[in-house]
Amino acid sequence: MKFSYISHLYCPKCSEKYERDKVQQLCKCGAPLLVKYDLHSLAAQWKPDDLAGRRNDLWRYHELLPVADESNIVSMGEGMTPLIEMLSISTNIGINHLYMKDEGIIPTGTFKARGAAVGVSKAKELGVKEFAMPTNGNAGAAWALYAARSGISSTIVMPEDAPKITRNECAISGANLYLVNGLISDAGKIVGKAVEEYNLYDVSTLKEPYRIEGKKTMGLEIAEQFDWEVPDVILYPTGGGVGLIGIYKALRELQELGWINKEKMPRLAAVQSEGCAPIVKAWQEGKKESAFWDNSETLAFGINVPKALGDFLVLQAIYETAGCAVSVSDQALLEEQKLISQQEGLFICPEGAAAFHAARKLRNEGWIKKEEKVVVLNTGAGIKYPNTVSVDVPILEPNESIKPVTIM
Ligand SMILES: *Cc1c(COP(=O)(O)O)cnc(C)c1O
Ligand SMILES: [Zn+2]
Repeated sequence: MKFSYISHLYCPKCSEKYERDKVQQLCKCGAPLLVKYDLHSLAAQWKPDDLAGRRNDLWRYHELLPVADESNIVSMGEGMTPLIEMLSISTNIGINHLYMKDEGIIPTGTFKARGAAVGVSKAKELGVKEFAMPTNGNAGAAWALYAARSGISSTIVMPEDAPKITRNECAISGANLYLVNGLISDAGKIVGKAVEEYNLYDVSTLKEPYRIEGKKTMGLEIAEQFDWEVPDVILYPTGGGVGLIGIYKALRELQELGWINKEKMPRLAAVQSEGCAPIVKAWQEGKKESAFWDNSETLAFGINVPKALGDFLVLQAIYETAGCAVSVSDQALLEEQKLISQQEGLFICPEGAAAFHAARKLRNEGWIKKEEKVVVLNTGAGIKYPNTVSVDVPILEPNESIKPVTIM
């Protein structure tokens, strides 16, 4: 058996094919490229039981990942995150089987590590020496740290008001880091100029084909963790939409392999913030692509993406699974974040909290039924966003005394 069953790259817009053993960026037509695997020969040789005893991270699915030679893998043990049953919030929301896939415990504290692990490993395999990227923070932090581990140099540009912790992660990893007095779209323009001038590898969201393959593993894991019986609904906080496109791709590949039921797809729900909801607007209008969202603003900065390059793929995944797109206010997601900390002991990120609030909304509207099996992606750790919590507690003098909550 081969380590990877990668066959070639193709354009989902114009169907043009590209070679797998060369550095590739966008299609000539400007669309992102996707990876195609030789699923036919893989299906004949690979069965779910073969996963038993494999490493407990995303590389357990190496046949369905693009890295051809195992020695190129750059890993920190990312993946195989827990699927946690929400014991109390499930009752509170009124969904009997509500689960959270917790990406907060992955290296660098967000699921961006999945894309970085696979993207950087493949870059290493292709002989890349330096890459450049714009970021809202989490992706830059993950790619900078995986780059450091791989020996590849990274140049990263992020908005000045991206979360300080992600700036620090890039800085300590030795990345060539710049801050821009502007938005991620401004950072993107600056990176674009440098990429052209210095012929750098551009790893902006979806401008290289492998980040999506890393994020795809969330879908593979959900299927495996439910013993190859997929849930009814998956809610995903959507910025660039890479995770959602990836989960959809994973489930289609598993159907082709015959590992999950061909008749059943989970309904995929894209969750955005009311301050930046281009996918929601496009979905409501029945469009195939989104329009640039002016003056976007949300404290869930991971989903502050005014126009995603892969918007047509996100919308396609929603339409083809009878899914939906829903937006949530910053205030609502903060309240949800607090409730989940208090009732479940889970300090989730604002993006994950938005997805839980969306589950609540969709349950209230009847779009989600009480008896359905529902998975919410918590894409990162709450501790990466210390500023979303306001703390108002008494400060004591050394001689003052305190009272417990319950007096026995
Ligand atoms: C990047 C990010 C998202 C959005 O991810 P996409 O796959 O680009 O839509 C959601 N949550 C967090 C914490 C992020 O960092
Ligand atoms: Zn094309």
